Amino acid sequence: MNHRLQIALIRGDGIGHEVTAAALSVVDAAVKRCGLSKLSYEEITAGAAYYAATGRDIEPDGEARAAQADAIFLGAIGLPAIRHDDGTEISPHLRLRDQLELYAGVRPVKAYPSIPQKLADPRAAAIDFVILRESTEGLFYSAAVHGRSDIRGDTEVRDTLRITRATTEKLHRFAFRLAQKRQARGHVGLVTCVDKANVFASMAFFRKIFDEIAPQFTGVAAGYNYVDAQALDLIRRPWDFDVLVTENMFGDILSDLAGGLVGGMGMAACAEIGDEHGLFQPAHGSAPDIMQQDKANPLAAILSGALMLDYLAEQRAMPGYAKAALLIETAVQAGFEQNRLRPMEFGGPMGTRAITAELLALLDNR
Ligand code: ATP
Repeated sequence: MNHRLQIALIRGDGIGHEVTAAALSVVDAAVKRCGLSKLSYEEITAGAAYYAATGRDIEPDGEARAAQADAIFLGAIGLPAIRHDDGTEISPHLRLRDQLELYAGVRPVKAYPSIPQKLADPRAAAIDFVILRESTEGLFYSAAVHGRSDIRGDTEVRDTLRITRATTEKLHRFAFRLAQKRQARGHVGLVTCVDKANVFASMAFFRKIFDEIAPQFTGVAAGYNYVDAQALDLIRRPWDFDVLVTENMFGDILSDLAGGLVGGMGMAACAEIGDEHGLFQPAHGSAPDIMQQDKANPLAAILSGALMLDYLAEQRAMPGYAKAALLIETAVQAGFEQNRLRPMEFGGPMGTRAITAELLALLDNR
């Protein structure tokens, strides 16, 4: 295997730097352990700090270089103190999502042993589902590209919620294929369409397309939930869900809630996948409150790295990289089972470097 896969690397802001370094060291170790060609990284500078220094949110040729890579890995972008004149944060990654048509936001939500559970019900130990957040349109359509909001002086502002047939068909197909893949690994095979179809025409359209796609996947069950009821059910019975497919803003909110259910944002991995491109980043932000203190939990970034390896395996037909992804996932699982991973985020003593070192040791033992 001689072809070296190219990864565009955007470390970004705040803890983005720390968790990216951790993720790369674990990804590289897993790739080496599986006897695969090393990934090659190409740095792209972007983010709020870069904007403060230069007035640009990404390097001049950054978007083009990101588009040429086999995958993009991103740490975290944005600093609350640095904003555009309209009050919004610096967010070139939203534009990348838009330009590269990264419609499928994959957010796994999994409970690991020995992480303190937020729910008292013992079934919470079995939480294992995925939120599939549409990531290019919905209510973020206005936010993706600066200037799309309809600002009428200082008296009224309108943001647009956009649902298109083309993207929604692809999204729902992605959801059912994801459920099929999970089914092959022992999951129940259920896609739940999360919407507000009883109130908004756009959401009724979203559900109508879901109903058109579902019969094409006979082995997977299809269900529905209104988003408000889904929020309740994520507290009441999250263990009953498998794949939740939803609009962009709903997915944004539910995935933070879900991250909280299984510990905190430091476990929240994320893949943003389109037909031609894939971007991988932890779902958390740049966490300036803990930056440069070796306190950040790097596992969300590390698990996002595993999602990237899985994507490369499928996209570039290099199945070896899926083995490397599995190696990382099983090392994380084993680390929590053996109580060897005790992040500060959950009251433990281990900072970013200690977690990374322990995970590297766990990989070595496998
Ligand atoms: P964004 O809007 O960019 O997602 P945010 O304002 O929601 O960002 P985060 O930066 O995700 O905020 O941080 C929210 C809280 O979670 C902060 O208190 C932060 O310290 C904590 N946090 C986020 N990521 C981690 C992590 N990897 N490890 C430990 N704590 C984290």
